[in-house]
Amino acid sequence: MSQKLKGQVAIVTGASKGIGAAIAKRLASEGASVVVNYASSKQGADKVVSEITAQGGKAIAVGADLSKKTDIEKLFAESKKAFGRLDILVNNAGIFDFQPLENVTEEHFQKHFNLNVLGLLLASQAAAKQFGSEGGNIINISSVVSKLAPAGGSVYSATKAAVDAITKSLAKELGPRRIRVNSINPGMVATEGWRSAGIADSDFHKTVLAATPLGRIGEPDDIAGAAVFLASRDSSWLSGETITIAGAYPY
Ligand code: NAD
Repeated sequence: MSQKLKGQVAIVTGASKGIGAAIAKRLASEGASVVVNYASSKQGADKVVSEITAQGGKAIAVGADLSKKTDIEKLFAESKKAFGRLDILVNNAGIFDFQPLENVTEEHFQKHFNLNVLGLLLASQAAAKQFGSEGGNIINISSVVSKLAPAGGSVYSATKAAVDAITKSLAKELGPRRIRVNSINPGMVATEGWRSAGIADSDFHKTVLAATPLGRIGEPDDIAGAAVFLASRDSSWLSGETITIAGAYPY
């Protein structure tokens, strides 16, 4: 079977677990060499790398806190040193802590915006510098909350609304350089972050599950196929779009 991303190089941020890990493995199975970024879980990133290499793929793990510009520069420098080119950036690293208005603090706001928005912008800036004359692909992992904006999650929803705006703006700005920019907006997906945020088995989980026509919440692999589609020539004239993947949940 021919591989859709053969010879290409991808950086996936926050790829030690959850949605990022599934995307990293799927891009590698399509022939891309993958930089598996992690913030703290070296063990998780090493496991993703060894799963990729066991299948005959190429990958390295690089630690970098995506809310820090110096770390972002280090990530892109190490990627260039290892693989020499860049074709795909998946801006997946993100945090989600649903808090009601009375719990919003400067720290809560800055933590979310520094990673989910500023980190995504600075990583996109670094990628745009490294993409070659043939262009590149930026895939932002947004969320259905960017439009749904559920009660008790104003800050997180605002970060993802910002991501959708950035997707559209950068698609226009970078299009002339043949750089495509799209977002994937997942509904509720069972990940480590989803569990540690206390959403598993909560009323929020039960309500979403009951209202999801496809009868289940998502798995990380449900998102990975769309990343391959957006990174490949199958979507060659698609840019500036947000693709909702949510089992027909009525967002
Ligand atoms: P997760 O917590 O399971 O994984 C998050 C990943 O990001 C981890 O690899 C973690 O190490 C990394 N990360 C966290 N802080 C980082 C930092 N400062 N620098 C670099 N990496 C960092 O989360 P997930 O559920 O897989 O979420 C991944 C993305 O998908 C996020 O952007 C999230 O907002 C989005 N999303 C998740 C859901 C869901 O229901 N799980 C739904 C919609 C969107």
